[in-house]
Amino acid sequence: MNDALPLITQPDLSGKRILTRVDFNATTNADDRIIDSFKIKENAPTINYIAKKKTKIILLSHRSSVVQDGKKITPSFKPLIGQIENLLKHRITLLDPLDLAQAQKIIKRANFGEIFFFDNTRLHPAEVKADIQHAKALAKLGDVLVYDAFASYRPETTTVVLPRFLPTYIGFTMQQEMKMLSAIFKKPRRPLVCIIGGAKTEVKVGIVRKFLQFADTIVLGGSVANTFLTAWGIHLGASLVDHDMVATARDLLWQALHSRVALELPHDFIVGKAGQANVLALHHTQIASSYAAFDIGPATRKRYQSIISRAGTIVWNGPMGKYEDRLFRAGTLSVLDAIIQARGKKIVGGGDTITSLPKRKRKALDHVSTGGGAMLVFLESGTTPPIEAIKKYGS
Ligand code: ADP
Ligand code: MG
Repeated sequence: MNDALPLITQPDLSGKRILTRVDFNATTNADDRIIDSFKIKENAPTINYIAKKKTKIILLSHRSSVVQDGKKITPSFKPLIGQIENLLKHRITLLDPLDLAQAQKIIKRANFGEIFFFDNTRLHPAEVKADIQHAKALAKLGDVLVYDAFASYRPETTTVVLPRFLPTYIGFTMQQEMKMLSAIFKKPRRPLVCIIGGAKTEVKVGIVRKFLQFADTIVLGGSVANTFLTAWGIHLGASLVDHDMVATARDLLWQALHSRVALELPHDFIVGKAGQANVLALHHTQIASSYAAFDIGPATRKRYQSIISRAGTIVWNGPMGKYEDRLFRAGTLSVLDAIIQARGKKIVGGGDTITSLPKRKRKALDHVSTGGGAMLVFLESGTTPPIEAIKKYGS
């Protein structure tokens, strides 16, 4: 694992134009209100550091597509600008990513200390194509590139190509993420307990495979656990199971049998039926075909809490159930409370996992990753595509 990327504190930034790749892809609601500002706030120390030097900052970020009237669209950051200004406590000027000539003029006329922000990088069709010409055109607008978007790990123009054309340094979020996540593999305090839940089984099996070589215990919940139980031949009624991943799950169960790692699966569930408010706690053998397991049950909660309480290091990604529904939140909250009370080092990440954390409880954790997919990719492989690009081309 590399932790020696050039850091933002190394170069003299004064008098320069600093292209700064951040990740402002915050969770918003249908009215474009930011409902979780965690990612934006995490980038603030890097932005403030640059702003204190005599610089012109030009921020770049993508924003994920949203579905409007059944159609997928690439949204603008425009409706969020006021909210972002409040979070950064700084005025920002929005630039059009489709008119770089105009942007260049505006930046040239500006005073040092001003902050610019390109609207959603993906509004430019070349962004997602990791395009050399587009990167060269963007590079003309800056003297230095600062990369602080740990969560932006997909290979795109501003994530993996731009570092080829500018001296590149990482910001404080990148530094902290890489340090905390690498530490898991460098002499972790044991037992090392890895808790995996959520629904995206396809992206989670990689981390299960990796931790089968390294952890002491792997604890499964959510739909991921349903898929593993199905692979074991247990029928879970109408529960959410990723049938395409059952064979992979069976292979991992087999590997677990031959390893020294304990793989823990739920024994009981909170079970419900679509459209019904009454729920039951049932053993996994008792689930009728029209019912679905939406959360781990009380016996499983107790067992998982006891495993977590004895852990030396805890890595958690993915809720234990359909936590968005009050009726199915207890499992996820019981895991969170056990983690907070445990003495072990606590590392948590994942889009929904973070959303499920009450904000006041986040402070009790040693590290909350800004990355969902990025955290998983980094834990699995020790790197991400932008980190590789900076390693290869960075200043
Ligand atoms: P993260 O974003 O933290 O990586 P995922 O995106 O993989 O997590 O999964 C989160 C989603 O999984 C949530 O929307 C949650 O409702 C859903 N989920 C978890 N367990 C279940 C379950 N047993 N049945 C249905 N949905 C579930
Ligand atoms: Mg998610």
